[in-house]
Amino acid sequence: MRILLTNDDGIHASGLRVLETIARQFSDDIWVCAPSEEQSGAGHSLSLSRPVRLRRHDDRRFSVTGTPTDAVMLGLMKAMESPPDLILSGVNRGANLGDDVTYSGTVSAAIEGTLAGIRSIALSQVYAREGMGETVPFAAAEAWGARVIEPLLQAPFAERTLVNVNFPPLPAEDVKGIRVVRQGFHDYARGSVVEGKDPRGFPYFWFGLHGIEHTPAHNTDLEAIADGYVSVTPLMLDLTHEPSLTALAGRYAK
Ligand code: MN
Repeated sequence: MRILLTNDDGIHASGLRVLETIARQFSDDIWVCAPSEEQSGAGHSLSLSRPVRLRRHDDRRFSVTGTPTDAVMLGLMKAMESPPDLILSGVNRGANLGDDVTYSGTVSAAIEGTLAGIRSIALSQVYAREGMGETVPFAAAEAWGARVIEPLLQAPFAERTLVNVNFPPLPAEDVKGIRVVRQGFHDYARGSVVEGKDPRGFPYFWFGLHGIEHTPAHNTDLEAIADGYVSVTPLMLDLTHEPSLTALAGRYAK
């Protein structure tokens, strides 16, 4: 089984090393093609207005000076000799839960893989509080990663679907199990904005993440993590809202 690893935290992120350890439990045919710098929050963006470079670190390890989507595209089109059987994206430093999935470069790399017709899984390690920098523990992901992925290797994935996995911010032995749940929604209270002045006296704004209060709905990814479980959520790329098709069409029928 050939596996392509990518992420949005960049080629040097510790979560990518965690992912490599997890992937090696299934295969020796591991390829890496990841952004050269952190791209968290890049979503599914594709670099169109500037060129990107593909750097070769060794036979199967590449970085791209662009977004996670750029990295998957170039990984499939230029870096790899033949397509992978599986794409794993992560392990992200931080949650990708609920409505945050569309901001996520980690999930979007898996979306790109899905569009290319390859079985793709996004993995994220939730952490307990902001400001931990490089010290975010990946213990739950390390211990539970292979256990979560293994059943997904043979499971049928419907066309244009992917799987989003989040690990709770707990020591491995305190994780209660795995729940397959739907995507939830945060209460709409966008984190925080730090305001400051640059060295020349001009104001800037810097988005943070902390303090998004939510009352998770039942059977959601948010609730599973709050309860101490690994969340497994199948996502679909077709964003069409079926019931509105007929209703809207009626509005235009004269
Ligand atoms: Mn990230």
